[in-house]
Amino acid sequence: MRIGVPRESAEGERRVALVPEVVKKLVAKGHEVLVEAGAGEGALVPDALYAEAGAQIGDPWGAEVVVKVAPPSAAELGRLSRGQTLIGFLNPRGNPEGLAAVAGAGVTAFAMEAIPRISRAQSMDALSSQSNVSGYKSALLGAEHATRFYPMLMTAAGTIPPAKVLVLGIGVAGLQALATARRLGAQTTGYDVRPETAEQVESLGAKWLDLGLEAAGEGGYARELTDEEKAAQQQALTDATKGFDVVITTALVPGRPAPRLVTAEAVEGMKPGSVIVDLAGETGGNCELTEPGQTVVRHHVTIVSPLNLPATMPEHASALYARNLQALIELLADEQTGALAPDFDDEIVTGACVVRDGEVR
Ligand code: NAD
Repeated sequence: MRIGVPRESAEGERRVALVPEVVKKLVAKGHEVLVEAGAGEGALVPDALYAEAGAQIGDPWGAEVVVKVAPPSAAELGRLSRGQTLIGFLNPRGNPEGLAAVAGAGVTAFAMEAIPRISRAQSMDALSSQSNVSGYKSALLGAEHATRFYPMLMTAAGTIPPAKVLVLGIGVAGLQALATARRLGAQTTGYDVRPETAEQVESLGAKWLDLGLEAAGEGGYARELTDEEKAAQQQALTDATKGFDVVITTALVPGRPAPRLVTAEAVEGMKPGSVIVDLAGETGGNCELTEPGQTVVRHHVTIVSPLNLPATMPEHASALYARNLQALIELLADEQTGALAPDFDDEIVTGACVVRDGEVR
C-alpha cells in the first residue's frame, strides 16, 4: 500500500507519525512511503534520513493510507478524498464534531484511541506508549518546580530528607510517574479507586494509600463516583495531600470530565513550595485550581497543567507511536500481497474503525 506521512500542523505538535526505522521496515515489506518535506523537523529527523530509509519525499495526501498524529485540521481534511484511509489520534469520544467532519471527507478512519486494550493489540496501543511519556515527564516537572530535592542528601551541611511524591490515578501514566519519581530518589505513594492497582504500586517500591473506596468500572477502567463518594474522596484526599511535597494527578474516566480529586481547600492545606502536576487538564483537570495549559501559583503551591506532554519528547514519543502504527498497518494489510485489506470481522479492526466509507460507526 501507499502510505502518506504529512507534516503535523497542530500548534506545538512536534511528533511525526512514522520515523525512518519504521519506514525502512514498511518498505522492506513492499509498501511505498511518501513523506512530506519537513515532516520530521519537530522530532529532529531530516528528510535525508527518510529518503535513506526508502521513503519518497513528496505529497502525502494522495496516498491510499494517510497516517497522522493529531486529528486533521479543516485544511487537512480538504486534502483528503473519498476512498482514502486515515489513521491517527482522532479523539472520537471527546470531539464528535471533528469525527463527523472526517466522515464528511468520505474516508475510512481508524482512531488510535479506539484500539481495544486486549493482549493481541498491545503492540498497537498508542494510548499506553504516549501515556508512558507523559508519566515520565510529569515526575520531572514535579522535580523542576519543587523548591526541595527529590532524593535524601547526607551532606557536610546536614541531611535533607527525601521528597514525598503522591500519584493519584494509577493507569499507565501514573505507574510511570511513580517509577520515575522513585528513580530520582523520592519516597513514593500511589492511590487509585481500582483495588488491583495496590499490588502494582507496591511492586514499584511505593506505598499504597488506602482510602477505603472502590470504583472499578468496565474494561479495566474506573467508573465515575457517586456524589457521596466524590465528597468522601475529596475530604480524605484533603487530609492525605497535606504531607506531600509533590502530587501528580492522572485520574481519568473514559468519556467523562476529569474527576475532581484535589479541592482548593486541599491546595491551601499543602506546605508552601509544594507542587501539583495535573495531567488531566485536557478534560478539565483533577485539581479545582488547575488552569489547563498554564502554570499558576495558588496558596504558595505551584500547579502545573501541561497539555500534550508527549509532544515535548518528540523523538522517543514518535519512535514509539510509529511502532504502534506499524503494527496496525501490518494488521490491515493482506499478508501475501501487502495490499490494504482490513478484516472487519477482526475485533481490533472493527474496534479501531470509527468511520467507514464516510459513515461514523
Ligand atoms: P486512564 O488514563 O483511563 O485513567 C488513569 C487512572 O485514573 C486509572 O487507573 C483510573 O482507575 C484512575 N481513576 C479514575 N477515576 C479516579 C478517581 N476518582 N480516583 C482515583 N483514581 C481514578 O487509565 P489508562 O492508563 O488508560 O489505563 C486504564 C486501564 O487499561 C488499566 O486497567 C490498564 O491496566 C489497562 N490497560 C490495558 C492494556 C492492555 O491489556 N493492552 C494496556 C494498557 C492499559
